[in-house]
Amino acid sequence: MRRKIVAGNWKMNTLLPEGELLVKQIEFLTKELETDVEIIIAPPFTHIATLGKYIKDYEMNVSLAAQNCADQEHGAYTGEVSAKMLHNLGCKYVILGHSERREYYGENSESLYKKINLVLNEGMSPIFCIGERLEERESSRHFEVVSQQIKDVLYRLRGVELAKVIVAYEPVWAIGTGKTATADQADEMHAYIRRVIGDKFGDYSENIPILYGGSCKPSNAKEIFGKEDVDGGLIGGASLVAQDFIGIIKSF
Ligand code: PEP
Repeated sequence: MRRKIVAGNWKMNTLLPEGELLVKQIEFLTKELETDVEIIIAPPFTHIATLGKYIKDYEMNVSLAAQNCADQEHGAYTGEVSAKMLHNLGCKYVILGHSERREYYGENSESLYKKINLVLNEGMSPIFCIGERLEERESSRHFEVVSQQIKDVLYRLRGVELAKVIVAYEPVWAIGTGKTATADQADEMHAYIRRVIGDKFGDYSENIPILYGGSCKPSNAKEIFGKEDVDGGLIGGASLVAQDFIGIIKSF
């Protein structure tokens, strides 16, 4: 039985007081919630220490993720935040390779491979994002693109390291656009991703959680999460509204 996971990626949204309010609302809405879904939130770096303390003080069943980390361990890298710093603040996860970072900040397989290793060395788990652009899907290259993204980074890990990774399939054309992949499109790609991972790592692939991301909301989550190879979601916009985020969790 694979883990079920719903992770909220807040991106560069909320000031700290708004982030605190959002966590309080999540706490209120999850207090009585009986669920086997692992809940993760990825707030901006500036919120992690404060929200981490709140989560701990109120014994919330929520784990913390960061949205990125440096590709160096420590030292003269102005403006960067290391994996160790994030672990020290209580992060269990780091989102890596989000399409916005690949597109706007030149994130590539080499830097991602370094980051994955730094995250794993800290005992945290990467949430590794992959997915094709619209023109790649329209020219039927989506499987090839996704397979290459896996091979360029994940194939360089050892099986025991791969076992710590969460994969997020996020078709770029569905992120923040309101355009969702159909449940069948998501399931088809998730099964393919599991096969590509299995080609290299055998049975390890069976236990890797593969999350869907892209305009996921309470109204479409149930159908998507109902698919065999979909183990949860990475949620952007809807994770900023506590009711919607919890609605998505309840869709399992
Ligand atoms: C994301 O950016 O990871 C994402 C899935 O965004 P949205 O849900 O807003 O499409």
